[in-house]
Amino acid sequence: MFKRDTQELIEFIESSEYTDIIFDFDETIVQLLIDWSYLKMDREQLAKTYKQESYLKENGWYAFDKMMVEKYWEEGKKDLDKMFSAAEDNHFMGMVENELLIEFIKNNARQYNFYVLSNNTQNTLHKVITELEMNKCFHIVLWRDNVSAPKPNPEGINAIITSQKLKKENTLMVGDSEWSDIAAANRAEIDSFLIDMHL
Ligand SMILES: [Mg+2]
Repeated sequence: MFKRDTQELIEFIESSEYTDIIFDFDETIVQLLIDWSYLKMDREQLAKTYKQESYLKENGWYAFDKMMVEKYWEEGKKDLDKMFSAAEDNHFMGMVENELLIEFIKNNARQYNFYVLSNNTQNTLHKVITELEMNKCFHIVLWRDNVSAPKPNPEGINAIITSQKLKKENTLMVGDSEWSDIAAANRAEIDSFLIDMHL
């Protein structure tokens, strides 16, 4: 699956029958500039707390995060969420806008029904959407805490489809990540479009 640029996305939408479009946020509408290096320190602290320092050292951060969620589901998930939220809330440095897409959404909010489904935090989404003056562009904005499991779990997409009584054949998911956005769309059985906002 290859990524296409924003102009291709707009042409695709305009030449199709989709009425309802669900957007991913980070790397789709904007690129969030977050200093994730702080996460490294928080993660090391977390590993210390749970006595998993050697696991982190030997298996790397990705396996560590996954293990923490699986093994320490209740307490671990909460701490992991807190860690990611802290990185977003305290080390947000700004953003790069996908100007073409933002303009399209603002100009077409009456022709289409737009939604956001993001794995980012409420703080981040609220701050950025307000700054972009897009508060009235979206019927629903879902952030990480609104769903019990983030994309690629289809729960968020299904929640939008059910609450808005959408037809799946008229609903499109747009995102930059094949393993989360596109996989969630596939599992919810709706069409999707893989975008690279930097092309
Ligand atoms: Mg994204």
